[in-house]
Amino acid sequence: MVDAVRLGWERRSAVRVLPPVQPRKLAKVPFVELAEGRLQGVVSSGSDVERVYVSSISAGSHAYNCSTNNNRPCGGLRGTPCKHLHALADEAVLQYGLDRVTRYLRVDPGTGVSSGAELVARLRGSHESVPAAVVFSRFLRHLAYLELPESTEPIPELHWFPATGAAR
Ligand SMILES: [Zn+2]
Repeated sequence: MVDAVRLGWERRSAVRVLPPVQPRKLAKVPFVELAEGRLQGVVSSGSDVERVYVSSISAGSHAYNCSTNNNRPCGGLRGTPCKHLHALADEAVLQYGLDRVTRYLRVDPGTGVSSGAELVARLRGSHESVPAAVVFSRFLRHLAYLELPESTEPIPELHWFPATGAAR
């Protein structure tokens, strides 16, 4: 796992941060991206400020997953996408625009989807586990870039991030 995460990191030398199409609620969904064949992100727990959920929907298959950042399955997944996946889809629509999200996930655009909730309702997939660390490490890296001052120098701090992201 650590090696897979590290390899993924070494392949990409920069994080692209696109300005959102519409303003987003960062406190609710601090991280959302269309990457690695998934809509994926980090969603705050509604009840516990210390807890976050890692949620994802695969492009094409529409397999979805939601777990805590230490891989405990989300209690809201009972055969249907949980509220975190709904929040993720809503924020993805704000961040990227509905067209881009439906195209990326390959949701049939002829079905009259106009919101994140409608998009989730049209998913054809079922629950499939994705290791939370894969997504969570990208979130940590995203945070690290936001906090760093602009520089063209190599960033030695990033060398320890993959191990941290994969730690249990
Ligand atoms: Zn959930």
